[in-house]
Amino acid sequence: MEFMIMVFIPSIVLSVGAQIMVKSAYKRYSQVPARSGLTGAQAAQQMLRANSIPDVGIEETQGMLSDHYDPTKKVLRLSPDVYHGSSLASLGIACHEAGHALQHAKGYTPLYIRSVMVPVASFGSQFGQYMLIFGVILAGWGAAFGGMVAMAGFALFGVAVLFSVVTLPVEFNASSRAKEQLVSLGLLSGPDEEKGVSKVLNAAALTYVAAAAVAALNLLYWAMILFGGRRD
Ligand SMILES: [Zn+2]
Repeated sequence: MEFMIMVFIPSIVLSVGAQIMVKSAYKRYSQVPARSGLTGAQAAQQMLRANSIPDVGIEETQGMLSDHYDPTKKVLRLSPDVYHGSSLASLGIACHEAGHALQHAKGYTPLYIRSVMVPVASFGSQFGQYMLIFGVILAGWGAAFGGMVAMAGFALFGVAVLFSVVTLPVEFNASSRAKEQLVSLGLLSGPDEEKGVSKVLNAAALTYVAAAAVAALNLLYWAMILFGGRRD
């Protein structure tokens, strides 16, 4: 019951709310053409060139809102609508991904910390909670090592939560780089265009905030069980 009120319901509200906001902002501004007439791929290309980053490629990838920067291959992968589209949403998302390439090229510290955390964090988010559940059950049966398994799971899951928090400055910074470059390179003209791009990028950032909040709520719940002497 406590889990439902403290973790499950707020998590659903946060994640679904953020998803609805990002989809609606994307839907709205993917129908507003940018006056520059450039596609997302062209805008990202201009941003890379203006910042003297010649070694990052731009590729098309499948799936809606699947856009990302791959630092290992040094490639921006843009979904078809973003790659070919010349809407405010396309320009904003393409240049946000180019923002990650800029972070990489300029040695932006939070991006580096985040990339170091990736292996442990992805293991921790998959297995941390199973270890927690398993450890608490074992301890309930009186197995002495149950507590250790649970603590190890807690630590692993903690890294995953920390990862989702470190992701926030990385995402916000990529968006602010995108907005700044779109304006300074003259790819957006007028406050209405800037506002549209901001709406799309802010909504996208909200999904990361929701994910971090959900992860933190889960961790808090487990901390209560492990350190608060509760057994429910
Ligand atoms: Zn991003």
